Amino acid sequence: MTQPPCSSAGDFIADVVRADLADSAGGGRVQTRFPPEPNGHLHIGHAKAIAADFGIADQFGGLCNVRFDDTNPDTEEAGYAASILEDIAWLGFDPGTPRHASDYFESLYSWARSLIERGLAYVDEQDAQAISVGRGGFGQPGTPSPYRDRPAAQSLDLFRRMRTGEFPDGSMVLRAKIDMQADNMQLRDPIMYRIRRGHHFRTGDAWCIYPTYDWAHGQSDALEGVTHSMCTLEFVDHRPLYDWYLDHLDLPFDRPRQYEFARLELTHTVTSKRRLARLVAEGTVDGWDDPRLPTLRGLRRRGYPPQAIRSFCAAIGVTKTNARHAIEELESHVRTELNRVAQRRMAVLHPLRLVIDNWPMDDGRPRVEWFDVANNPENPDDGVRQVPFSGVVFIEAEDFAEVPPPKFFRLSPGREVRLRGAYLVTASEVVKDAAGRIVEVRATYDPASRGGNAPDGRRVRSTMHWVSADHAVTATVALYDHLFTAEVPGERTGEPLDDLNPHSRELIVDAQCEPVLAETPPGSVVQFERLGYFAADPAQPLLFHRTVTLRDEWARIQARG
Ligand code: ATP
Ligand code: MG
Repeated sequence: MTQPPCSSAGDFIADVVRADLADSAGGGRVQTRFPPEPNGHLHIGHAKAIAADFGIADQFGGLCNVRFDDTNPDTEEAGYAASILEDIAWLGFDPGTPRHASDYFESLYSWARSLIERGLAYVDEQDAQAISVGRGGFGQPGTPSPYRDRPAAQSLDLFRRMRTGEFPDGSMVLRAKIDMQADNMQLRDPIMYRIRRGHHFRTGDAWCIYPTYDWAHGQSDALEGVTHSMCTLEFVDHRPLYDWYLDHLDLPFDRPRQYEFARLELTHTVTSKRRLARLVAEGTVDGWDDPRLPTLRGLRRRGYPPQAIRSFCAAIGVTKTNARHAIEELESHVRTELNRVAQRRMAVLHPLRLVIDNWPMDDGRPRVEWFDVANNPENPDDGVRQVPFSGVVFIEAEDFAEVPPPKFFRLSPGREVRLRGAYLVTASEVVKDAAGRIVEVRATYDPASRGGNAPDGRRVRSTMHWVSADHAVTATVALYDHLFTAEVPGERTGEPLDDLNPHSRELIVDAQCEPVLAETPPGSVVQFERLGYFAADPAQPLLFHRTVTLRDEWARIQARG
């Protein structure tokens, strides 16, 4: 198995796997793993890794398992692990029964002993600072630790006592004995174990020494039968170490290989658990599932369909070039998917009363008519719903202008417009309050235009959404803007928080909705005509989050070039 040259786009891992399968040396088998650390919730970047790991296994009839990289007791929690499995399933992949690096602590311990016995690892009693200084730097020599050549028997004894808890945290470490002059810093006697008395969410207090990521990863891959171990580009330098450990252990397993691909970064947001955790901890957002966050929980609450996230990941491919993708590209996949599946509804975000003076009365009350309105013109199978119409409707305040500016074709005094699916109406006069604000528009309707069609074919330039005032239900609607104003948060000052958008959420508490919106299933997404796609909050009734607007900004960005 070899690393081929990078493909410029597409899926270079698939090319590698194809070549390996053709070459029988690979064993003809494909197995991958997705290795999250359970120290936070998954974000859109992880979706790319999940799509790559599970996608490659699917594509080649192989296996992919989840392996929790739970080697750091201080920050990891069972709750995060459970949430990660849920999010993987939500994305549309079967997480199966997860494995854990901690399942292998005992094996890792005995393999470490075997390295010590062969003079390939030693216990170092220097503190962290001295170890770091001794490493030197690129182009600068490393200085061997005074403990580097201590007898194996002594290291073995100390390592055993590290495990039994004889020494305080941080007092000594186990290091691999590789090459203190290597150009690659990772090979300058990397740390394999540190002493840490943290309560581990699975192994409890059974251990007070924990393996490092590097010492645990390749061996865990080998134990599980992983053939292609994919990680992000910052691990390129770790690959020689990954290989060194496997080369120096006598493992009865097929040899796994590490491959690196580009991290996913998006404009106007951050994809780092540490940064996201800070936004949550400081209350900048409401929690890990705040709809403004790029966490999978946030995106789900915002109404992003998992299919759209998968099709975005497929479109960007698995490449070796770090690039920041426009968030509008992701939104465009969301819009395409929702256009197909979301039912259409009418809601008015900034209501203005439109009173129809010639509307008929029945038995002393304004008549109520019910219209059949298509749920989704893109999909006739979605059928129709009934929408009530009566003598007072709410229209969008911005759809009316007392003095219309040039090119304003919506409602103004003397102008006729179409109320979608209902009638043609002509505004007559405005009613203002003492402060001169428009509180109501009076109008007449053409009874012969039922369904919104001009009987004589006369031209009507605007079609507007509306909601019958007597039947309207009041909802809270959250409109979102980018969480960070800058395309690359932190580019100016080095601190992404400096670029936080103070207006990333606008709450409208008195949106007026057609009655069926009260029955929107929690978590489902509908289109508010002309306004965008909106997700019903999973927990709070009559709270809607705008998922995306209807405008395809991505097409515009591409057209700009
Ligand atoms: P973060 O910096 O957000 O904490 P991480 O790499 O520490 O990310 P892990 O839980 O260790 O988070 O990641 C699990 C897997 O997901 C790893 O294989 C990692 O390479 C991959 N991954 C993490 N972030 C991204 C990203 N932005 N793009 C692509 N893959 C990612
Ligand atoms: Mg990590």
